[in-house]
Amino acid sequence: MRDTIVIGAGLSGLMGALALADAGRRPLVLAKGQGAMQWAAGTIDVWGAANGSLRAALGELITTDPGHPYARAGAAGVEAAIDRFRALMESARYPYVGSLERNVLLPTALGALRPAAFFPATMAAGDMRLGGAAHAGPPLLLAGFHELRDFFPPMAAENLTGQGIPARGVYLTLPPIARRLDFNTRVFAQLFDDPAFREDVGRQLRAARGDATRIGLPAVLGLRDPLGAVAHLQALSGAQIFEIPTLPPSVPGMRLFTIFREAIVKAGGRLQIGAEVLRGEGADGALTAVYSAAAAREQTHRANLFLLATGGVAGGGVRTDHTGSTWETALGLPLQAPGGRGEWFAPRFLNEAGHPIYRAGIATNPQLQPLDAAGAVVYRNVAVSGAALAGSDPIRERCYSGMALATGWRAGQILSSEL
Ligand SMILES: Cc1cc2nc3c(=O)[nH]c(=O)nc-3n(C[C@H](O)[C@H](O)[C@H](O)COP(=O)(O)OP(=O)(O)OC[C@H]3O[C@@H](n4cnc5c(N)ncnc54)[C@H](O)[C@@H]3O)c2cc1C
Repeated sequence: MRDTIVIGAGLSGLMGALALADAGRRPLVLAKGQGAMQWAAGTIDVWGAANGSLRAALGELITTDPGHPYARAGAAGVEAAIDRFRALMESARYPYVGSLERNVLLPTALGALRPAAFFPATMAAGDMRLGGAAHAGPPLLLAGFHELRDFFPPMAAENLTGQGIPARGVYLTLPPIARRLDFNTRVFAQLFDDPAFREDVGRQLRAARGDATRIGLPAVLGLRDPLGAVAHLQALSGAQIFEIPTLPPSVPGMRLFTIFREAIVKAGGRLQIGAEVLRGEGADGALTAVYSAAAAREQTHRANLFLLATGGVAGGGVRTDHTGSTWETALGLPLQAPGGRGEWFAPRFLNEAGHPIYRAGIATNPQLQPLDAAGAVVYRNVAVSGAALAGSDPIRERCYSGMALATGWRAGQILSSEL
């Protein structure tokens, strides 16, 4: 029997497991699959909707909306979670930069600009806040490969130029490689782990760069030592190099997952991916066991404490059907959700106030314990975190990953010291 079970291996579950491991526990992480971070940009979006100081915006939110997941984490909890996350990444030589003072604007693979609070140092030279009229430097260079699907440098460059950020896009020639491969993002990252591959790409970048001082490449610059790969390409090309998040699968997400997994396992925890939790069993107001799908029969997992971090609809923690039903998939916990399909969406698709269904999730008390419709705690030894929580609209607020980190960290702390 484990002391604690974490259900879900997204950013929130892994951050919760890290908090538990830091507190001397040895969590077992059970997850159906890897979390949405392997689809996402790899940035930590704390409050993308903020125009000025994120710290001030969070402070105001916590005061005015005490049911918001950030209020559950608390202002100090948000900062502590980010500090711990950054310390972990720093120790793995994959540092994150940024601040709670102001969002940066990073280019997407399409050349749009998206706000982010914290981001890998490998993306840092891509900050476009100096774009528009203030952009005085020579045009940026964006470079990619025909073989890498869904990354079109000329189109992204045209879109940036259209926003007042002069840019030009080129395709590089794939250096000779030993055998024919399926060129997805992971394959490219493995190629960039090889210094000889980088030498060839670096030479091409130097030849193509003209007077560009910054070069954007797809975020595939290695799995083993991306910071070292960026430094190497900078030395070869003579320009600052930055990574641009690609479409899934996300190499930055893979890096994050590996770093978390290694830290949790090193601290005595364990990850079991491919273990979908089908149901739970409780007694006297406490959850005693969860059951996961296995080849021949269900597997039983017993523990004293549980963290539920199964995400929302994207992560598989919440399901819906055509009748308008919504349900939580692991423990069958009550959901706070609009009554029927007719109430899910506002009439206008681009409704500024968002859509009611986006705020659906599990309602909790300040200890992140799950509540039923009458406001009573369902299981006193369970905490909930991340996109599974009700009370925020992370798409409109652009706070998915920040909220996942902060509430995962807080839930881990609550489980290890308060429940
Ligand atoms: C395509 C895409 C792009 C995104 N881009 C961004 C972005 O740019 N910025 C941003 O901030 N956020 C982004 N997000 C959201 C973000 O990646 C996460 O959804 C968010 O961080 C929430 O994390 P989470 O850990 O709560 O849930 P998730 O990351 O969804 O993880 C849920 C975990 O629970 C597991 N699980 C679910 N049900 C069960 C079950 N019954 N039994 C066992 N395990 C279960 C899943 O397999 C998974 O491991 C994006 C999401 C998607 C899908």
